[in-house]
Amino acid sequence: MPRPIQATIHADALAHNLARLRGAVPDAKVWAVVKANAYGHGIERVFGALRAADGFALLDLAEAERVRALGWRGPILLLEGVFEPRDLELCSRLQLWHVVHCEQQIDWLAAHKTHAPHRVFLKMNSGMNRLGFPPHSLRTAWARLDALPQVDEISLATHFSDADGPRGIAHQVQAFTAATRDLPGERSLSNSAAVLRHAQGDTTVRADWVRPGIAVYGSAPDFPEHDIAHWGLRPTMTLASRVIGVQALQAGDTVGYGSSFTAEAPMRVGIVACGYADGYPRHCGTGTPVLVDGQRTRLVGRVSMDMVAVDLTPLPAAGFGSEAVLWGRAATGTVLPVDEVARAAGTVSYELLCALAPRVPVVVDGAD
Ligand SMILES: *Cc1c(COP(=O)(O)O)cnc(C)c1O
Repeated sequence: MPRPIQATIHADALAHNLARLRGAVPDAKVWAVVKANAYGHGIERVFGALRAADGFALLDLAEAERVRALGWRGPILLLEGVFEPRDLELCSRLQLWHVVHCEQQIDWLAAHKTHAPHRVFLKMNSGMNRLGFPPHSLRTAWARLDALPQVDEISLATHFSDADGPRGIAHQVQAFTAATRDLPGERSLSNSAAVLRHAQGDTTVRADWVRPGIAVYGSAPDFPEHDIAHWGLRPTMTLASRVIGVQALQAGDTVGYGSSFTAEAPMRVGIVACGYADGYPRHCGTGTPVLVDGQRTRLVGRVSMDMVAVDLTPLPAAGFGSEAVLWGRAATGTVLPVDEVARAAGTVSYELLCALAPRVPVVVDGAD
Protein backbone atom coordinates (compact mmCIF):
# COMPACT_ATOMS: atom_id res chain seq x y z
CA MET A 1 0.00 0.00 0.00
CA PRO A 2 1.30 3.49 -0.81
CA ARG A 3 1.89 6.01 1.95
CA PRO A 4 -1.45 7.49 2.95
CA ILE A 5 -0.53 11.02 1.88
CA GLN A 6 -2.55 12.62 -0.90
CA ALA A 7 -3.27 16.02 -2.39
CA THR A 8 -6.77 16.74 -3.60
CA ILE A 9 -7.57 19.46 -6.12
CA HIS A 10 -11.08 20.81 -5.61
CA ALA A 11 -12.51 21.58 -9.04
CA ASP A 12 -15.70 23.03 -7.55
CA ALA A 13 -13.65 25.49 -5.48
CA LEU A 14 -11.58 26.58 -8.47
CA ALA A 15 -14.74 27.32 -10.43
CA HIS A 16 -16.24 29.10 -7.42
CA ASN A 17 -13.18 31.29 -6.88
CA LEU A 18 -12.98 32.25 -10.54
CA ALA A 19 -16.66 33.20 -10.49
CA ARG A 20 -16.10 35.16 -7.28
CA LEU A 21 -13.30 37.17 -8.91
CA ARG A 22 -15.31 37.74 -12.05
CA GLY A 23 -18.16 38.97 -9.90
CA ALA A 24 -15.84 41.55 -8.35
CA VAL A 25 -15.05 43.04 -11.77
CA PRO A 26 -18.02 42.08 -13.95
CA ASP A 27 -17.10 44.28 -16.90
CA ALA A 28 -13.48 43.11 -17.15
CA LYS A 29 -12.12 40.05 -18.93
CA VAL A 30 -10.29 37.61 -16.70
CA TRP A 31 -6.98 35.92 -17.33
CA ALA A 32 -6.72 32.87 -15.10
CA VAL A 33 -3.03 32.87 -14.23
CA VAL A 34 -1.77 29.29 -14.50
CA LYS A 35 1.99 29.85 -14.30
CA ALA A 36 4.12 27.49 -12.24
CA ASN A 37 1.94 24.58 -13.32
CA ALA A 38 -1.18 26.34 -12.07
CA TYR A 39 0.45 27.30 -8.75
CA GLY A 40 1.37 23.68 -8.16
CA HIS A 41 -2.11 22.32 -8.88
CA GLY A 42 -1.32 20.97 -12.35
CA ILE A 43 -2.53 22.72 -15.51
CA GLU A 44 -4.38 19.65 -16.75
CA ARG A 45 -6.10 19.26 -13.38
CA VAL A 46 -7.41 22.84 -13.19
CA PHE A 47 -8.22 23.37 -16.84
CA GLY A 48 -11.77 22.02 -16.82
CA ALA A 49 -12.73 24.06 -13.77
CA LEU A 50 -11.22 27.26 -15.19
CA ARG A 51 -12.59 27.04 -18.73
CA ALA A 52 -14.91 29.92 -17.92
CA ALA A 53 -11.90 32.25 -17.93
CA ASP A 54 -11.46 34.58 -20.90
CA GLY A 55 -7.84 33.53 -21.25
CA PHE A 56 -4.92 31.82 -19.59
CA ALA A 57 -1.79 33.69 -18.55
CA LEU A 58 1.50 31.93 -17.86
CA LEU A 59 5.14 32.34 -18.65
CA ASP A 60 6.59 29.00 -19.67
CA LEU A 61 6.27 28.16 -23.36
CA ALA A 62 5.92 24.46 -22.63
CA GLU A 63 2.98 25.29 -20.38
CA ALA A 64 1.40 27.31 -23.19
CA GLU A 65 1.72 24.26 -25.43
CA ARG A 66 0.00 22.17 -22.77
CA VAL A 67 -2.94 24.60 -22.61
CA ARG A 68 -3.31 24.44 -26.41
CA ALA A 69 -3.02 20.65 -26.26
CA LEU A 70 -6.02 20.64 -23.92
CA GLY A 71 -8.03 22.17 -26.74
CA TRP A 72 -8.06 25.79 -25.58
CA ARG A 73 -8.46 28.05 -28.60
CA GLY A 74 -8.91 31.31 -26.74
CA PRO A 75 -6.26 33.79 -25.66
CA ILE A 76 -3.04 32.71 -23.98
CA LEU A 77 -0.68 35.41 -22.69
CA LEU A 78 3.03 34.95 -22.01
CA LEU A 79 3.55 37.19 -18.98
CA GLU A 80 7.31 37.58 -19.50
CA GLY A 81 7.13 37.47 -23.27
CA VAL A 82 9.69 35.49 -25.22
CA PHE A 83 13.15 34.57 -23.99
CA GLU A 84 14.87 34.11 -27.34
CA PRO A 85 14.01 34.84 -30.99
CA ARG A 86 12.90 31.35 -31.90
CA ASP A 87 10.20 31.46 -29.21
CA LEU A 88 8.39 33.79 -31.60
CA GLU A 89 7.87 30.89 -33.99
CA LEU A 90 5.88 29.11 -31.31
CA CYS A 91 3.92 32.30 -30.68
CA SER A 92 3.02 32.44 -34.37
CA ARG A 93 2.17 28.76 -34.56
CA LEU A 94 0.08 28.62 -31.37
CA GLN A 95 -1.26 32.17 -31.60
CA LEU A 96 0.16 33.21 -28.27
CA TRP A 97 -0.13 36.80 -27.16
CA HIS A 98 3.04 37.97 -25.51
CA VAL A 99 4.25 40.70 -23.24
CA VAL A 100 6.95 42.96 -24.64
CA HIS A 101 8.94 44.44 -21.79
CA CYS A 102 12.34 45.32 -23.27
CA GLU A 103 14.08 46.55 -26.45
CA GLN A 104 15.54 43.12 -27.24
CA GLN A 105 12.07 41.65 -27.60
CA ILE A 106 11.18 44.38 -30.12
CA ASP A 107 14.40 43.70 -32.06
CA TRP A 108 13.53 40.00 -32.24
CA LEU A 109 9.98 40.77 -33.42
CA ALA A 110 11.35 43.08 -36.12
CA ALA A 111 13.46 40.19 -37.45
CA HIS A 112 10.70 37.59 -37.10
CA LYS A 113 9.10 36.15 -40.25
CA THR A 114 5.41 35.47 -39.83
CA HIS A 115 2.22 35.51 -41.87
CA ALA A 116 0.11 36.07 -38.78
CA PRO A 117 0.86 39.35 -37.00
CA HIS A 118 1.06 39.09 -33.23
CA ARG A 119 -0.93 40.68 -30.48
CA VAL A 120 1.40 42.06 -27.85
CA PHE A 121 1.03 43.54 -24.38
CA LEU A 122 3.53 46.37 -24.00
CA LYS A 123 4.60 46.39 -20.39
CA MET A 124 5.36 49.53 -18.48
CA ASN A 125 7.47 49.66 -15.36
CA SER A 126 5.28 51.86 -13.18
CA GLY A 127 7.45 51.53 -10.09
CA MET A 128 7.99 47.88 -9.26
CA ASN A 129 11.31 47.96 -11.14
CA ARG A 130 11.19 44.38 -12.27
CA LEU A 131 10.14 44.17 -15.93
CA GLY A 132 8.92 46.85 -18.31
CA PHE A 133 9.76 50.09 -20.07
CA PRO A 134 10.10 53.12 -17.83
CA PRO A 135 7.51 55.85 -18.50
CA HIS A 136 9.88 58.03 -20.51
CA SER A 137 10.64 55.31 -23.09
CA LEU A 138 7.17 53.76 -23.34
CA ARG A 139 6.05 55.96 -26.20
CA THR A 140 9.13 55.16 -28.31
CA ALA A 141 8.63 51.46 -27.69
CA TRP A 142 4.96 51.78 -28.65
CA ALA A 143 5.85 53.61 -31.88
CA ARG A 144 8.45 50.98 -32.77
CA LEU A 145 5.90 48.19 -32.29
CA ASP A 146 3.23 50.11 -34.16
CA ALA A 147 5.53 50.36 -37.18
CA LEU A 148 6.18 46.60 -37.34
CA PRO A 149 4.23 44.47 -39.81
CA GLN A 150 4.75 41.59 -37.35
CA VAL A 151 2.46 43.29 -34.81
CA ASP A 152 -1.24 43.92 -35.17
CA GLU A 153 -2.75 44.92 -31.84
CA ILE A 154 -0.83 46.62 -29.05
CA SER A 155 -2.26 46.41 -25.54
CA LEU A 156 -0.78 47.98 -22.42
CA ALA A 157 0.08 46.37 -19.10
CA THR A 158 1.74 47.03 -15.79
CA HIS A 159 2.12 45.16 -12.50
CA PHE A 160 1.66 46.31 -8.90
CA SER A 161 4.19 45.81 -6.13
CA ASP A 162 1.92 46.70 -3.19
CA ALA A 163 -1.66 45.86 -4.07
CA ASP A 164 -1.80 43.68 -0.95
CA GLY A 165 -0.29 46.14 1.50
CA PRO A 166 -0.35 49.57 3.08
CA ARG A 167 1.54 51.41 0.32
CA GLY A 168 -1.19 50.56 -2.16
CA ILE A 169 -1.29 51.19 -5.89
CA ALA A 170 -2.18 54.86 -6.34
CA HIS A 171 1.35 55.94 -7.26
CA GLN A 172 1.65 53.22 -9.89
CA VAL A 173 -1.82 53.83 -11.32
CA GLN A 174 -0.96 57.50 -11.60
CA ALA A 175 2.34 56.79 -13.38
CA PHE A 176 0.70 54.32 -15.78
CA THR A 177 -2.24 56.57 -16.55
CA ALA A 178 -0.03 59.57 -17.20
CA ALA A 179 2.34 57.69 -19.50
CA THR A 180 -0.38 55.92 -21.49
CA ARG A 181 -2.97 58.67 -21.60
CA ASP A 182 -3.31 59.05 -25.36
CA LEU A 183 -2.24 55.57 -26.42
CA PRO A 184 -4.97 53.32 -27.80
CA GLY A 185 -5.39 49.66 -26.89
CA GLU A 186 -6.70 47.43 -24.14
CA ARG A 187 -5.15 47.62 -20.69
CA SER A 188 -4.35 45.16 -17.92
CA LEU A 189 -3.16 46.12 -14.45
CA SER A 190 -4.57 44.01 -11.63
CA ASN A 191 -3.39 40.86 -9.87
CA SER A 192 -5.55 39.12 -7.24
CA ALA A 193 -4.92 41.68 -4.52
CA ALA A 194 -5.75 44.58 -6.81
CA VAL A 195 -8.94 42.87 -8.03
CA LEU A 196 -10.17 42.25 -4.50
CA ARG A 197 -8.95 45.42 -2.77
CA HIS A 198 -8.80 48.17 -5.38
CA ALA A 199 -10.60 47.39 -8.63
CA GLN A 200 -14.24 47.43 -7.68
CA GLY A 201 -14.87 51.13 -7.58
CA ASP A 202 -12.18 52.07 -10.07
CA THR A 203 -12.50 51.48 -13.80
CA THR A 204 -8.86 52.42 -14.41
CA VAL A 205 -7.65 49.66 -12.09
CA ARG A 206 -10.18 47.18 -13.43
CA ALA A 207 -9.32 48.09 -17.02
CA ASP A 208 -10.03 45.58 -19.80
CA TRP A 209 -8.29 42.51 -18.39
CA VAL A 210 -7.48 41.42 -14.85
CA ARG A 211 -4.86 38.80 -14.00
CA PRO A 212 -5.75 36.98 -10.78
CA GLY A 213 -3.63 34.03 -9.71
CA ILE A 214 -3.42 33.24 -6.01
CA ALA A 215 -7.05 34.06 -5.24
CA VAL A 216 -8.17 31.57 -7.89
CA TYR A 217 -6.24 29.02 -5.85
CA GLY A 218 -8.13 29.76 -2.65
CA SER A 219 -5.69 31.97 -0.81
CA ALA A 220 -6.14 35.50 0.50
CA PRO A 221 -3.56 37.75 -1.18
CA ASP A 222 -3.52 40.06 1.83
CA PHE A 223 -3.47 37.51 4.66
CA PRO A 224 -3.42 38.05 7.63
CA GLU A 225 -5.20 41.37 7.16
CA HIS A 226 -7.99 39.37 5.52
CA ASP A 227 -8.59 35.64 5.23
CA ILE A 228 -10.35 33.56 2.58
CA ALA A 229 -13.59 33.61 4.54
CA HIS A 230 -13.55 37.41 4.32
CA TRP A 231 -13.06 37.29 0.56
CA GLY A 232 -15.50 34.44 -0.05
CA LEU A 233 -12.83 32.13 -1.46
CA ARG A 234 -12.57 28.37 -0.99
CA PRO A 235 -9.48 26.18 -0.70
CA THR A 236 -8.58 24.49 -3.97
CA MET A 237 -5.89 22.15 -2.68
CA THR A 238 -6.01 19.85 0.31
CA LEU A 239 -2.86 18.15 1.51
CA ALA A 240 -3.95 15.27 3.74
CA SER A 241 -2.41 12.20 5.27
CA ARG A 242 -2.98 9.89 8.23
CA VAL A 243 -1.68 9.20 11.68
CA ILE A 244 0.60 6.17 11.26
CA GLY A 245 1.89 5.96 14.84
CA VAL A 246 0.99 7.16 18.33
CA GLN A 247 3.29 7.86 21.28
CA ALA A 248 2.37 8.41 24.91
CA LEU A 249 4.74 10.96 26.47
CA GLN A 250 5.55 11.72 30.08
CA ALA A 251 6.53 15.17 31.30
CA GLY A 252 10.09 15.80 30.19
CA ASP A 253 9.95 13.54 27.11
CA THR A 254 10.95 15.17 23.83
CA VAL A 255 9.76 14.81 20.24
CA GLY A 256 11.72 14.54 17.02
CA TYR A 257 15.12 15.66 15.77
CA GLY A 258 16.95 18.07 17.98
CA SER A 259 14.48 17.41 20.81
CA SER A 260 13.03 20.83 20.05
CA PHE A 261 9.76 20.04 21.84
CA THR A 262 9.56 18.89 25.45
CA ALA A 263 6.29 17.65 27.00
CA GLU A 264 5.36 19.61 30.11
CA ALA A 265 2.78 17.04 31.18
CA PRO A 266 1.65 13.61 30.02
CA MET A 267 0.40 13.85 26.44
CA ARG A 268 -0.29 11.83 23.27
CA VAL A 269 1.33 12.62 19.97
CA GLY A 270 0.33 11.28 16.58
CA ILE A 271 2.92 10.74 13.89
CA VAL A 272 1.62 11.86 10.50
CA ALA A 273 3.00 10.57 7.20
CA CYS A 274 3.94 13.94 5.71
CA GLY A 275 7.27 15.71 5.78
CA TYR A 276 9.34 18.27 3.96
CA ALA A 277 10.01 15.81 1.13
CA ASP A 278 6.28 16.07 0.42
CA GLY A 279 6.46 19.85 0.22
CA TYR A 280 5.38 20.59 3.78
CA PRO A 281 7.60 23.44 4.95
CA ARG A 282 10.40 22.46 7.30
CA HIS A 283 10.15 25.91 8.88
CA CYS A 284 6.78 25.09 10.45
CA GLY A 285 7.44 24.78 14.16
CA THR A 286 5.56 23.73 17.26
CA GLY A 287 2.14 25.37 17.24
CA THR A 288 1.52 25.28 13.48
CA PRO A 289 -2.17 24.40 13.04
CA VAL A 290 -3.16 20.93 11.73
CA LEU A 291 -6.61 19.36 11.43
CA VAL A 292 -6.93 15.86 12.87
CA ASP A 293 -10.31 14.24 12.22
CA GLY A 294 -11.46 17.72 11.25
CA GLN A 295 -10.44 19.35 14.54
CA ARG A 296 -7.69 21.86 15.00
CA THR A 297 -4.62 20.85 16.89
CA ARG A 298 -0.95 21.74 16.62
CA LEU A 299 2.31 20.46 15.27
CA VAL A 300 4.92 19.60 17.89
CA GLY A 301 8.68 19.41 17.31
CA ARG A 302 10.56 19.61 14.04
CA VAL A 303 9.26 18.64 10.64
CA SER A 304 11.32 15.73 9.34
CA MET A 305 11.67 14.46 5.80
CA ASP A 306 8.75 12.04 5.89
CA MET A 307 6.89 12.74 9.13
CA VAL A 308 5.51 15.36 11.47
CA ALA A 309 4.22 14.95 15.01
CA VAL A 310 0.88 16.39 16.10
CA ASP A 311 -0.62 16.88 19.54
CA LEU A 312 -3.49 14.43 20.10
CA THR A 313 -3.96 15.30 23.78
CA PRO A 314 -7.04 17.48 23.13
CA LEU A 315 -8.53 14.83 20.79
CA PRO A 316 -9.05 11.66 22.80
CA ALA A 317 -10.98 9.96 20.00
CA ALA A 318 -8.17 10.51 17.50
CA GLY A 319 -5.44 7.95 17.03
CA PHE A 320 -3.96 5.49 14.60
CA GLY A 321 -5.45 6.02 11.13
CA SER A 322 -6.97 9.41 11.89
CA GLU A 323 -7.13 11.86 9.01
CA ALA A 324 -4.59 14.68 9.25
CA VAL A 325 -5.10 17.73 7.03
CA LEU A 326 -1.98 19.81 6.65
CA TRP A 327 -3.89 22.46 4.69
CA GLY A 328 -7.19 22.61 2.87
CA ARG A 329 -10.51 20.97 3.66
CA ALA A 330 -11.08 18.07 6.05
CA ALA A 331 -13.62 15.30 5.41
CA THR A 332 -15.84 17.07 7.98
CA GLY A 333 -15.76 20.23 5.84
CA THR A 334 -13.57 22.13 8.31
CA VAL A 335 -11.08 24.38 6.54
CA LEU A 336 -7.45 25.08 7.39
CA PRO A 337 -6.38 27.85 5.01
CA VAL A 338 -2.95 27.33 3.45
CA ASP A 339 -2.32 30.97 4.40
CA GLU A 340 -2.13 30.04 8.08
CA VAL A 341 0.42 27.31 7.47
CA ALA A 342 2.48 29.57 5.24
CA ARG A 343 2.52 32.22 7.90
CA ALA A 344 3.71 29.71 10.50
CA ALA A 345 6.57 28.91 8.12
CA GLY A 346 7.43 32.56 7.60
CA THR A 347 6.42 32.52 3.95
CA VAL A 348 3.41 32.96 1.66
CA SER A 349 0.88 30.45 0.38
CA TYR A 350 2.25 30.74 -3.17
CA GLU A 351 5.44 29.00 -2.09
CA LEU A 352 3.64 26.12 -0.35
CA LEU A 353 1.25 25.44 -3.21
CA CYS A 354 4.01 25.58 -5.83
CA ALA A 355 6.26 23.32 -3.75
CA LEU A 356 3.92 20.33 -3.54
CA ALA A 357 6.37 17.48 -4.14
CA PRO A 358 6.16 15.18 -7.14
CA ARG A 359 6.01 12.13 -4.86
CA VAL A 360 2.60 13.18 -3.51
CA PRO A 361 -0.25 11.49 -5.42
CA VAL A 362 -2.82 14.02 -6.60
CA VAL A 363 -6.52 13.46 -7.28
CA VAL A 364 -9.14 15.85 -8.58
CA ASP A 365 -12.51 15.92 -6.90
CA GLY A 366 -15.66 17.50 -8.23
CA ALA A 367 -14.33 17.22 -11.78
CA ASP A 368 -16.91 17.55 -14.49
C1 LIG B 1 1.90 36.03 -11.13
C2 LIG B 1 1.37 37.24 -11.80
C3 LIG B 1 0.06 37.63 -11.61
C4 LIG B 1 -0.87 36.94 -10.61
O1 LIG B 1 -0.53 37.39 -9.32
P1 LIG B 1 -1.36 36.90 -8.03
O2 LIG B 1 -0.75 37.66 -6.91
O3 LIG B 1 -1.10 35.44 -7.90
O4 LIG B 1 -2.77 37.21 -8.28
C5 LIG B 1 -0.42 38.70 -12.32
N1 LIG B 1 0.38 39.37 -13.19
C6 LIG B 1 1.66 39.02 -13.39
C7 LIG B 1 2.49 39.81 -14.34
C8 LIG B 1 2.21 37.96 -12.71
O5 LIG B 1 3.48 37.62 -12.90
